[in-house]
Amino acid sequence: METIRTVAWMKEKARAARQEQRIIGLVPTMGALHAGHLALVERARRECSPVYASIFLNPKQFAANEDLSRYPRPLEADVEKLTEAKVDGLFHPNAAEIYPSGFSTYVHVEGLSERLEGRSRAGHFQGVSTVVLKLFEIVQPHYAYFGRKDAQQVRIVQQMARDLNLDTEIVVCPIVREADGLAMSSRNTYLGTEDRQAATVLHRALRAAENEIAAGVRDAMQLQGAMHKVLRSEPRARVDYAEIVDAETFEPMVRVARRAYAVLAVYVGKTRLIDNMLIEPVGDELRAEI
Ligand code: AMP
Repeated sequence: METIRTVAWMKEKARAARQEQRIIGLVPTMGALHAGHLALVERARRECSPVYASIFLNPKQFAANEDLSRYPRPLEADVEKLTEAKVDGLFHPNAAEIYPSGFSTYVHVEGLSERLEGRSRAGHFQGVSTVVLKLFEIVQPHYAYFGRKDAQQVRIVQQMARDLNLDTEIVVCPIVREADGLAMSSRNTYLGTEDRQAATVLHRALRAAENEIAAGVRDAMQLQGAMHKVLRSEPRARVDYAEIVDAETFEPMVRVARRAYAVLAVYVGKTRLIDNMLIEPVGDELRAEI
């Protein structure tokens, strides 16, 4: 597997692949790869050739008080995993390559970027949208693979792709979880033994909402109440938000009658974790997917 460090060379490779009528797949990541990332790669490999993964720890999506400096960077292990997963190339530019001095253009998806994650993490989604558009321009993928783990992020990327007539189709993949239900995340490595155990509370809260749905509950307040009750039971957890929102707008819902998400952001000790459950109407029933 080739590691590509410059925009110019990545563009050259992408241009050549497009000229040969090949289908380019892109899996954008920030590194510290786990089975969630590798599931995206696997899906991409089934649908595209060549498949490029990117590892770019994007400074513009971290606020000043966030964890950019201590974010894990196990590059050697990542390269090994991507090689084993048979990725064709790794695009791994440094920050100056992506943001040369004088950089001054940003993409902002209005509305969606201000809610939930956007409210708690000022500037986060502007950083995400900007780097994703740049990656699309550089790698020219026909398909780009994102995890539902970051449901609001993928919704924003879809909105950007639609609004800006991008040639890249966004593919959303399911959440990959640990055996005890904790959604895989590079940030899970921050958790000490006790916090790691407490972190299962996010999944347990989603399960509680799922049980209510199975029992016929449609009232969003009642579903939120079920999640909060579980979250309150864990003394190491501090809730940022736990809401039922419309899957298109990420606005609060009163009654679940269309596609929705149960979305959670919870501090466990000092580590901020997110998780979600997709709720979809199927006939007269609601189907929950954790
Ligand atoms: P990150 O490296 O955290 O920026 O994540 C890169 C991509 O992997 C994003 O599209 C994430 O949504 C996706 N991803 C992260 N964790 C998981 C997971 N547990 N299951 C599925 N996709 C994931």
